[in-house]
Parts: sequence; structure tokens; C-alpha cells
Amino acid sequence: MEKTLSIIKPDAVKKNVIGKIIDRFESNGLRVAAIKKIQLSRADAEAFYAVHKERPFFGELVEFMISGPVVVSVLEGENAVAKNRELMGATDPKEAAPGTIRADFAESIDANAVHGSDSLENAEKEIAFFFAQREIL
Ligand code: UDP
Repeated sequence: MEKTLSIIKPDAVKKNVIGKIIDRFESNGLRVAAIKKIQLSRADAEAFYAVHKERPFFGELVEFMISGPVVVSVLEGENAVAKNRELMGATDPKEAAPGTIRADFAESIDANAVHGSDSLENAEKEIAFFFAQREIL
């Protein structure tokens, strides 16, 4: 069993599709081990995306991630990291496979509905960034 971190980004929260996105996870073998709706501070978003701080889109990414509440969750299941990435689809919704979350709910490469950890190592770091051990059940 693996755990991974998911974020339903501000665009999808504004569209009121939290439940529809969580259903994709639950219908495909992932279980919600922890979940909360939060407003990220600028410092939170900058720290969470620190790996991208030299990238040209960093400023816009931070602005977008603090533009409204997000839903962060820990998803658990077999191959949860890869399974979540598969369900999410490609970063750019124009390139995302039909039936993926980004194909169905994302607007653009920056407002792309969801985040998912890209490796087991990053999943552990990202889960610890948002959740205390006692919140993961
Ligand atoms: N992003 C962006 N412009 C780009 C590339 C990425 O705004 O040209 C944003 C987008 O929200 C993406 C996030 O930066 O989800 C992280 O990028 P990454 O390449 O890690 O994609 P992901 O792992 O989210 O598919």
C-alpha cells in the first residue's frame, strides 16, 4: 500500500466539483486517508512549490494556488502515486487523455484542477507538509 498527496486546486473548488473529483479516486481503488479544505498562505504556496522557484511560471503558480481554498487529501492504495497521476492526466489539459480529471475539469496548463505527488519520496514530504500523523487514518 502506498500513500500519495492530492490537492484539488482553486479552479476546481470554485467549480464545485470536489465530490466529482473525489469520486474518481474512490471509484478507482484509492481510499481517502485524510482530507481538509484550507486557504494556502503565500508562504505555504511558495514553500510547497519551492522546487519550481526558478521556473518562469513560479509567480503565477503561487498567485493561482492562493486565489481561493484548496482541498488537500492523502490517498491510499496499491501504486497510489502512479494511479493518482494516471487518473489526473497530463499537466496540460489539452494533452490529457479523455476521461482523466484534467481532461474533464481543467481549463489550462496553469488552472489544471489537481496536483498529485510525482514520486513516493515526494509523496512522503508533501503529506508531512500538510498533515500530522494523527490526522491520517
Ligand atoms: N505549471 C504552469 N505552467 C507551466 C507548467 C506548469 O503553470 O508551463 C503549473 C501547473 O499548475 C502544474 C504545476 O505548475 O500543475 C507543477 O508543474 P509540474 O510540471 O510539476 O506538473 P504536474 O506534476 O502538476 O503535472
